[in-house]
Amino acid sequence: MPIHLDDLDVVSEVAGLRSALIVPCNMCPAITVAVKEKQPFMRFFRSFLKSAPFEQHIRALQSRLRENGVTTEVFKSNFIHQWFLCMWPSGQRKKLQKYAKQYEAVIVLGCDSATETIRDLVKSSKVIEGMEVAGFMNAKLRFHLPCNVSFEDCKIIPMSQRKRNEEMSD
Ligand code: SF4
Repeated sequence: MPIHLDDLDVVSEVAGLRSALIVPCNMCPAITVAVKEKQPFMRFFRSFLKSAPFEQHIRALQSRLRENGVTTEVFKSNFIHQWFLCMWPSGQRKKLQKYAKQYEAVIVLGCDSATETIRDLVKSSKVIEGMEVAGFMNAKLRFHLPCNVSFEDCKIIPMSQRKRNEEMSD
């Protein structure tokens, strides 16, 4: 049950800043980007434990920020247990706290819960939301040879179907 996210305008948020640390959640945002790009989420033989569409998406964001005078680095979460920003282990939290001090801003690519994790840790830098929640994702998980994982027939489900029905009946 991943969350589907939309990009927010990060460039206007970094106006006047010179450095930012991009902190991506490697689960829902990576699935979202793969679905939007209509590409496999993961190709294990090509890029082990990396989602190529999401990596490319982050590189494009870095390039846009560079054009606007902001130098960025990406905070890495290489192991699977570090992928979910909403459930980060304490070691990863401490590491982020230390790294974030070197940057004027921290750009979070994830949901509100991901941002909450970062806000709890980062006090001296500006925290910028790079994505916003659009709804839940409903999709078919598919494995393809040689060892690819994709999500197909995706639908975006509102966070509260009941609330939406209430709004429609008003
Ligand atoms: S932090 Fe949010 S975006 Fe990341 S895995 Fe958790 S629910 Fe999904």
